[in-house]
Amino acid sequence: MPASLGIFGGTFDPPHLGHVALATAAWRQLGLEQIRVIPAASAPLRLTGPSATPAQRVAMCRCAFVGLPWAVVDEREVKRAGVSWSIETARELAAEYPASRRVWILGADQLERLPQWREVEELVQLVEFAVLAREGNKVEVPVELRGLMRLTVLQAPAVPVAATAIRAALQRGDFTQNGLPSEVARYIDEHQLYRS
Ligand code: ATP
Repeated sequence: MPASLGIFGGTFDPPHLGHVALATAAWRQLGLEQIRVIPAASAPLRLTGPSATPAQRVAMCRCAFVGLPWAVVDEREVKRAGVSWSIETARELAAEYPASRRVWILGADQLERLPQWREVEELVQLVEFAVLAREGNKVEVPVELRGLMRLTVLQAPAVPVAATAIRAALQRGDFTQNGLPSEVARYIDEHQLYRS
């Protein structure tokens, strides 16, 4: 059983250098033994579904974190299918790793939205949180969760990359692929993803 486990959920459509920077900052600063990278089947607070399939997003996560032995791609949410509720993932991991320090890793945009997450009162008891600044978002514990959640603010520079912008660039034929790890860029090319 790892002494400490990072939990890093997301749509990863596609995974990019912001994701790698966030996970690396959490691993380094908190001394995490392992980080589970967990692509969602479909995310609760999104209006539209992911563009790449679950299998493609899992494969791209493997590409993004290749060579980082502490990062393990965990397929539980895509196997569970349906909407991926973080509380369910947290309950499962708490049951599997009761003695491990468990840290949910987030960007600052998600920290702002945390009060909207399902059963967040239970979630904050099951895991602590680590957050990295993100362009345009304040790093601040939401009022509703003050005094309830345990939070580490990661001391690493914000990385101005977002999956939405990468998809938009590819759609308009800009294949410079700024912000993508090279293995992910290769996968996207090979599978002609995000072209329409
Ligand atoms: P989109 O642009 O489609 O909303 P995204 O780039 O935010 O996607 P997600 O898969 O939704 O990517 O993000 C997963 C997690 O990674 C979230 O907690 C998000 O806040 C965080 N994250 C994503 N990009 C960054 C970044 N550049 N810096 C810090 N955190 C990030």
